[in-house]
Amino acid sequence: MSAAREGGCACGAVRYRLTSAPLFIHCCHCLNCQRQTGSAFVVNLLIEADRLVVLSGAPQPVDVPRDDGSTQRIFRCPTCQVAVFSDYGRPQVLFVRGGTLDEPREVTPDVHIYTRSKVGWVTLPDTTPAFEVYYDRRALWPAASQERLEAVLRPTDG
Ligand SMILES: [Zn+2]
Ligand SMILES: [Zn+2]
Repeated sequence: MSAAREGGCACGAVRYRLTSAPLFIHCCHCLNCQRQTGSAFVVNLLIEADRLVVLSGAPQPVDVPRDDGSTQRIFRCPTCQVAVFSDYGRPQVLFVRGGTLDEPREVTPDVHIYTRSKVGWVTLPDTTPAFEVYYDRRALWPAASQERLEAVLRPTDG
Protein backbone atom coordinates (compact mmCIF):
# COMPACT_ATOMS: atom_id res chain seq x y z
CA MET A 1 0.00 0.00 0.00
CA SER A 2 1.43 3.32 -1.05
CA ALA A 3 1.67 5.71 1.88
CA ALA A 4 1.53 9.08 0.14
CA ARG A 5 -1.86 9.93 -1.22
CA GLU A 6 -2.89 13.23 -2.76
CA GLY A 7 -6.16 14.91 -3.45
CA GLY A 8 -7.85 18.25 -3.85
CA CYS A 9 -10.93 20.28 -4.62
CA ALA A 10 -12.78 20.52 -7.91
CA CYS A 11 -11.16 23.72 -9.21
CA GLY A 12 -7.64 22.64 -8.35
CA ALA A 13 -6.83 25.55 -6.04
CA VAL A 14 -6.60 23.30 -2.98
CA ARG A 15 -4.22 20.36 -3.16
CA TYR A 16 -3.13 18.19 -0.25
CA ARG A 17 -0.93 15.19 0.48
CA LEU A 18 -1.27 12.60 3.20
CA THR A 19 2.21 11.71 4.41
CA SER A 20 1.23 8.33 5.84
CA ALA A 21 -1.56 5.84 5.84
CA PRO A 22 -4.65 7.04 7.73
CA LEU A 23 -5.41 5.95 11.29
CA PHE A 24 -8.72 4.43 10.27
CA ILE A 25 -11.35 4.91 7.59
CA HIS A 26 -14.99 5.57 8.39
CA CYS A 27 -17.94 5.21 6.11
CA CYS A 28 -20.62 7.21 7.89
CA HIS A 29 -24.29 6.86 7.04
CA CYS A 30 -25.58 9.40 9.57
CA LEU A 31 -28.11 12.07 8.70
CA ASN A 32 -25.58 14.85 9.24
CA CYS A 33 -23.16 13.37 6.72
CA GLN A 34 -25.96 12.69 4.26
CA ARG A 35 -27.09 16.30 4.47
CA GLN A 36 -23.61 17.79 4.29
CA THR A 37 -22.64 15.78 1.25
CA GLY A 38 -26.04 15.72 -0.42
CA SER A 39 -25.45 12.03 -0.85
CA ALA A 40 -25.99 8.68 0.87
CA PHE A 41 -22.86 8.54 3.04
CA VAL A 42 -19.41 10.01 3.49
CA VAL A 43 -16.01 8.32 3.46
CA ASN A 44 -13.66 9.89 5.98
CA LEU A 45 -9.96 9.10 6.34
CA LEU A 46 -8.97 9.87 9.92
CA ILE A 47 -5.40 11.15 10.11
CA GLU A 48 -3.27 13.30 12.38
CA ALA A 49 -3.43 16.96 11.34
CA ASP A 50 0.35 17.11 10.97
CA ARG A 51 0.24 14.30 8.43
CA LEU A 52 -1.93 16.30 6.05
CA VAL A 53 0.20 18.75 4.09
CA VAL A 54 -1.64 21.46 2.20
CA LEU A 55 0.34 21.77 -1.03
CA SER A 56 -1.62 24.72 -2.43
CA GLY A 57 -4.60 26.89 -1.58
CA ALA A 58 -5.94 27.77 1.83
CA PRO A 59 -8.93 25.65 2.92
CA GLN A 60 -11.34 27.86 4.85
CA PRO A 61 -13.08 26.60 8.01
CA VAL A 62 -16.88 26.72 8.04
CA ASP A 63 -18.74 25.74 11.21
CA VAL A 64 -21.69 23.62 10.09
CA PRO A 65 -24.59 22.89 12.47
CA ARG A 66 -25.30 19.30 13.40
CA ASP A 67 -28.55 17.77 14.59
CA ASP A 68 -27.35 17.56 18.20
CA GLY A 69 -26.73 21.31 18.39
CA SER A 70 -22.96 21.03 18.05
CA THR A 71 -21.03 22.16 15.02
CA GLN A 72 -18.56 20.45 12.78
CA ARG A 73 -15.71 22.47 11.31
CA ILE A 74 -15.56 21.74 7.60
CA PHE A 75 -12.67 23.08 5.54
CA ARG A 76 -13.60 24.17 2.05
CA CYS A 77 -11.84 25.50 -0.98
CA PRO A 78 -12.44 29.28 -0.89
CA THR A 79 -13.05 29.31 -4.64
CA CYS A 80 -15.13 26.26 -5.55
CA GLN A 81 -16.35 25.51 -1.98
CA VAL A 82 -15.72 21.80 -2.19
CA ALA A 83 -15.26 20.31 1.29
CA VAL A 84 -11.88 18.62 1.57
CA PHE A 85 -11.62 17.75 5.26
CA SER A 86 -13.19 18.45 8.63
CA ASP A 87 -12.68 18.05 12.34
CA TYR A 88 -15.04 17.15 15.13
CA GLY A 89 -13.78 19.48 17.83
CA ARG A 90 -10.32 17.89 18.07
CA PRO A 91 -8.08 19.77 15.65
CA GLN A 92 -5.31 17.17 16.07
CA VAL A 93 -7.33 14.67 14.03
CA LEU A 94 -8.66 15.50 10.59
CA PHE A 95 -11.35 13.67 8.69
CA VAL A 96 -10.33 13.77 5.03
CA ARG A 97 -13.15 13.33 2.55
CA GLY A 98 -12.38 10.19 0.60
CA GLY A 99 -14.07 11.43 -2.55
CA THR A 100 -11.52 14.26 -2.85
CA LEU A 101 -8.62 11.84 -3.23
CA ASP A 102 -7.13 11.57 -6.69
CA GLU A 103 -7.85 7.84 -6.52
CA PRO A 104 -10.92 7.32 -4.32
CA ARG A 105 -11.10 3.66 -5.26
CA GLU A 106 -7.79 3.00 -3.51
CA VAL A 107 -9.33 3.36 -0.05
CA THR A 108 -11.81 1.00 1.55
CA PRO A 109 -13.74 1.73 4.74
CA ASP A 110 -12.55 -0.05 7.88
CA VAL A 111 -15.96 0.39 9.49
CA HIS A 112 -19.49 1.45 8.61
CA ILE A 113 -21.18 3.61 11.24
CA TYR A 114 -24.68 4.99 11.83
CA THR A 115 -26.17 2.27 9.66
CA ARG A 116 -29.50 2.98 11.37
CA SER A 117 -29.96 5.76 8.80
CA LYS A 118 -28.29 3.97 5.89
CA VAL A 119 -30.32 4.14 2.71
CA GLY A 120 -31.89 0.82 1.83
CA TRP A 121 -30.32 0.45 -1.60
CA VAL A 122 -26.75 0.48 -0.26
CA THR A 123 -25.68 -3.07 0.60
CA LEU A 124 -22.69 -3.41 2.90
CA PRO A 125 -20.07 -6.16 2.61
CA ASP A 126 -20.21 -8.84 5.31
CA THR A 127 -16.44 -8.54 5.72
CA THR A 128 -16.47 -4.98 7.11
CA PRO A 129 -17.69 -4.25 10.66
CA ALA A 130 -20.90 -2.23 10.70
CA PHE A 131 -22.66 -0.53 13.62
CA GLU A 132 -26.12 0.93 14.09
CA VAL A 133 -24.53 3.91 15.84
CA TYR A 134 -20.87 4.10 16.83
CA TYR A 135 -18.19 1.60 17.87
CA ASP A 136 -15.48 1.00 20.45
CA ARG A 137 -12.22 2.29 19.04
CA ARG A 138 -10.16 0.07 21.34
CA ALA A 139 -11.84 -3.01 19.96
CA LEU A 140 -11.41 -2.12 16.32
CA TRP A 141 -8.37 0.04 15.64
CA PRO A 142 -4.97 -1.56 15.04
CA ALA A 143 -2.63 -1.05 18.00
CA ALA A 144 -0.33 1.15 15.94
CA SER A 145 -3.18 3.52 15.10
CA GLN A 146 -4.27 3.72 18.74
CA GLU A 147 -0.71 4.63 19.73
CA ARG A 148 -0.56 7.29 17.04
CA LEU A 149 -3.84 8.79 18.24
CA GLU A 150 -2.77 8.82 21.87
CA ALA A 151 0.47 10.50 20.88
CA VAL A 152 -1.29 13.49 19.31
CA LEU A 153 -3.99 13.77 21.99
CA ARG A 154 -1.47 13.68 24.84
CA PRO A 155 -1.39 17.06 26.56
CA THR A 156 1.89 18.86 26.10
CA ASP A 157 3.50 20.79 28.92
CA GLY A 158 3.99 24.52 28.52
ZN1 LIG B 1 -11.47 24.65 -5.46
ZN1 LIG C 1 -21.80 11.00 9.85
